[in-house]
Order: sequence, then C-alpha cells, then structure tokens
Amino acid sequence: MPDNCLFCKIIRGEIPASKLYEDDDVLAFRDIAPQAPVHILVIPKKHLSGPVAVTEEDERVVGKLMRVGNEIARKEGIPHYRLVFNNGAQAGQTVFHLHMHILGGRHMAWPPG
Ligand code: AMP
Repeated sequence: MPDNCLFCKIIRGEIPASKLYEDDDVLAFRDIAPQAPVHILVIPKKHLSGPVAVTEEDERVVGKLMRVGNEIARKEGIPHYRLVFNNGAQAGQTVFHLHMHILGGRHMAWPPG
C-alpha cells in the first residue's frame, strides 16, 4: 500500500471516513464533497492507480465493487443511480486509487459534463 495514497490512508484508518461497508477486498464510504444526495465511493483494498491499472487478476474484486455498490444503493433507497469510474485527470480523476462512484437521489443528466 503506497504511503502517500489518500485512499490507502483511509483503508489503514489513518484518515477518518464515513464507512458504510468493509470486507477483506473492498471498502465503501461517503464522498467528502457529495455531488448528489447520495454519493458513495467503493474502492478495492488493493492499491490500483485507476481503471487503466486493472488486470486479469483483479477481475473478481472489480466485479465485487459493483455487487457491493448495488447492495449499498438498495440500502440507501436509491433504485436509480449512476456508477462512475474516472480514468485520468482529463476525465476528472483526482485520486489515483481506483474507486467507483455511486451517485443517486436526483435526476442525472446525460451526457455528463
Ligand atoms: P475522482 O475525481 O473520480 O478521482 O474522485 C475522487 C473523489 O474522492 C472526489 O469525489 C472527492 O470528493 C473524494 N474525496 C477526496 N478526499 C476524500 C476523503 N478524505 N474522504 C472521502 N472522499 C474524498
């Protein structure tokens, strides 16, 4: 786990977060700057810099992000939601540890900005 990665620090408990779910593979917590009434991040515990870093050996855990996300969305009472992975700064990625955004609780426009 890289020492200076923000999300690795959250996984290690060095930075507080509003955690919703955790197991050996993944962690889910509320986004600190929510862009919708519900805005949650689901991350693998393994450090991957982003979607581009995912390899075959990560397929199970990356699939689990979505399964856990679906369960969280159900518990949050948002049957309609958007799942977002940003890859690279121009696509809006600011934290270089793979994360899936769950956004819901309001109408979502398309295309995204
Ligand atoms: P991205 O722009 O796709 O890299 O998403 C990074 C997300 O991490 C943003 O939505 C930030 O608001 C969120 N974020 C940054 N720092 C924290 C933190 N300490 N706790 C929770 N969410 C954070």
